[in-house]
Amino acid sequence: MSLSFAIVGGGWYGCHIASSLRALGFGVTLFEQQKRLMHLASGNNQFRLHLGFHYPRHYGTRMQSREGFSRFVERYPGLSRPIAENIYAVPRGDSLIDFLTYKLIMTSSGIEFTELYDHPPMLANLEGCLLAPERVLLIDRARRYFAERLSGNLALGHRIESIRETADAVHIDGQRYDFMIDATWGHFTKPPIDLFYEPTLLLYYEANTEFPAITMVDGPLCSIYPTEDPGLYTLSSVPHTPLGRYTSGAEARAALDTLDPALIARKVELMEEQAMRYVPGFKEVFRYIGPQLSIKTKPVGSFDDRSCYVYKGGRVFSVMSGKIDTIFVAVERILSLIEAMPDEPPASDGGSLRQEVLRSAASMAAV
Ligand SMILES: Cc1cc2nc3c(=O)[nH]c(=O)nc-3n(C[C@H](O)[C@H](O)[C@H](O)COP(=O)(O)OP(=O)(O)OC[C@H]3O[C@@H](n4cnc5c(N)ncnc54)[C@H](O)[C@@H]3O)c2cc1C
Repeated sequence: MSLSFAIVGGGWYGCHIASSLRALGFGVTLFEQQKRLMHLASGNNQFRLHLGFHYPRHYGTRMQSREGFSRFVERYPGLSRPIAENIYAVPRGDSLIDFLTYKLIMTSSGIEFTELYDHPPMLANLEGCLLAPERVLLIDRARRYFAERLSGNLALGHRIESIRETADAVHIDGQRYDFMIDATWGHFTKPPIDLFYEPTLLLYYEANTEFPAITMVDGPLCSIYPTEDPGLYTLSSVPHTPLGRYTSGAEARAALDTLDPALIARKVELMEEQAMRYVPGFKEVFRYIGPQLSIKTKPVGSFDDRSCYVYKGGRVFSVMSGKIDTIFVAVERILSLIEAMPDEPPASDGGSLRQEVLRSAASMAAV
């Protein structure tokens, strides 16, 4: 009999997990509280398909992204596209790492790049630059792709408030499932680790000309990244993007709902000032058009672990999401944890290895 799964949360993780389990023949229902998929963090981020360039400080995250990148492009070929010029730059003096060490970390991690010996004239204060083949995610297409693919499995506008677990099932709104997967990035049940919720602010800009993607690494720096929409970019800043640190998703949401417009205006000034240190002509090229607000769920710790983890308690799996291209880790871990669940031991046929060897030796001796 096929196993049945209730998946809570229709972001990148929930959609991919639902789609993968359905393809394996399992019964799947995906519950999403909003009326459309990818409404929260998955639809409000910098839309990078990471390859590991962003994580010189964390080996596991780099490895998950390096593997995930090629798997993502193979599995979802229409849901990302290349970027003509995607630059990772180490600023002189402001970075926590020097350019040679940065290159060495990427090379030793098997992450390929091309060094840019002369950095583009619009950039300044840099020690070194490289070109990365990372891509941009196409969020509008992703929403349509999963809405169509999962059309028979979706419960949109359905917020799960509580669940009832028994020894052999999980009951959600009176419906029985074999397992439940919480893919809400810690907003419904909390993964059993120390974590916090960080409301975030990115800024959207328009540019008339095509501009490269530029990411300054590593430390309290900033980045400019294109979106799927030609001429539309996000500006992100490590010191200015976070808007606080909360112990629950509800508190982080409340902080966003009551955000003072004066704070956003101040952040715009600070973020533009920071960007102009490395892109002196920033204000001539880019026109601010509005904020993007979101919430990150982060593990406590300053080593920047952005890997994906899955935890199991009884019949409930809790996914701690990593980056978007590490969705594959979640499915594999869920399947492996299910396979590791104790079955009824097989009935003994008395055929232990020792007995088999003795039987074989006895039959040889009898010849
Ligand atoms: C500012 C910012 C920039 C980022 N940039 C990048 C980037 O460039 N590249 C990258 O790979 N990653 C990036 N990330 C991380 C990325 O956004 C996350 O890894 C990813 O979106 C997590 O997906 P998810 O499906 O786990 O969570 P979400 O997208 O948050 O989805 C969870 C879903 O659960 C639903 N939900 C919650 N509670 C319930 C309930 N009780 N019942 C039903 N539904 C419920 C929510 O409505 C939501 O749709 C960024 C994140 C932020 C905030």
